[in-house]
Amino acid sequence: MTHKGDFGEYGGTYVPETLIPALNELEKAYQAIAFSDDFQTKFRYYLRHYVGRQTPLYFAERMSAECGLKIYLKREDLNHTGAHKINNSLGQVLLAKQMGKTRIIAETGAGQHGVATATVCALLDMPCVVYMGAEDVERQSLNVYRMKTMGATVVPVESGSRTLVDATSAAIRDWMQTVEHTHYVIGSVVGPHPYPQMVRDFQSVIGEETKAQALEQLGSLPNYLVACVGGGSNAMGLFYPFLEDDVSFIAVEAAGEGESSDRHSLSLAKGTPGVLHGSKSSLLQSSQGHISMAHSVSAGLDYPGVGPELSFLRDEHKLILGSATDDEAISAMKWVARTEGIIPALETAHAFAYLKKQLDLSKGASVIVNCSGRGDKDMGTLMSYEH
Ligand SMILES: *Cc1c(COP(=O)(O)O)cnc(C)c1O
Repeated sequence: MTHKGDFGEYGGTYVPETLIPALNELEKAYQAIAFSDDFQTKFRYYLRHYVGRQTPLYFAERMSAECGLKIYLKREDLNHTGAHKINNSLGQVLLAKQMGKTRIIAETGAGQHGVATATVCALLDMPCVVYMGAEDVERQSLNVYRMKTMGATVVPVESGSRTLVDATSAAIRDWMQTVEHTHYVIGSVVGPHPYPQMVRDFQSVIGEETKAQALEQLGSLPNYLVACVGGGSNAMGLFYPFLEDDVSFIAVEAAGEGESSDRHSLSLAKGTPGVLHGSKSSLLQSSQGHISMAHSVSAGLDYPGVGPELSFLRDEHKLILGSATDDEAISAMKWVARTEGIIPALETAHAFAYLKKQLDLSKGASVIVNCSGRGDKDMGTLMSYEH
């Protein structure tokens, strides 16, 4: 038997009883509003005129020559705020407004999702509270200041490991008390139903554009789509419109200090089924079910879980799993910068590192890489890595 929001054995709604009415309301509103012409017209309007879509599909000439492949970059790094995350924040805040909600909360790790959400809240005049682990507040002071500049309140969370996992728990606690008037913007294809589906749908603008651009520029669909995977929203956004097509999907995770170390974020490659943040998925956990600490040099990939739909696609053998270590990602970042004059985000650099290794890819194949974000935010990390 399948339940609402299930992807095979994954997904579902594992939340405290008090949140069930809010999730039901959200699911109903999502189905009724998000597909209406009125909502879509507004969403597309802001995507075009505010976010700056559509983003180019760029043929990376020098990289292609070096790799013996036809490599195209989907330039999500050119979006306003520098990554794909704003597609989802915009969709969710527009939806919350139409639902009559008057307050937005979000959690953030490195701060990128917080910045995207604070940005859209400024645009649409919604009060915004962002929960962030106290450790992350210290490490990501620039993003904290960005959010504050745009009028958001940033709440440092002092409990537990003082990072994203604790910020998420704090946001859930807030929401349990404020559901009537507050919408919780989750930043990836994770969380209880309907979030994984809703975030995927808002991010699918990436794959929809890519498909039309590929047909126009390559004259055919590509052989491969490549994306880095943290929670999985840029990957699902790119892959989803191609699910019925003869295209291979490559999901690249962060191998951190190495596959055989304990310090990585390989929740698809090495995870086991379990429940985290409201849904069942493939997780990094001990045999007793304690969630493990994930590690990656890139904060956006440093999460012990992954979206339920990606776990499902993995089990269905629809994904090629790739990975890149911290060192490989850093070196790929410099490679892309010097070869194409594009500094990718460290997250994105993992996808490029995979290309550089040339695994699984036949010569001459056409490959589209989701260039999920730009690397300006990572210059500090790059500098400290080299010293
Ligand atoms: C947050 C982030 C990611 C990881 O999140 P997904 O949900 O897996 O897409 C990847 N790239 C960039 C640039 C990010 O900001």
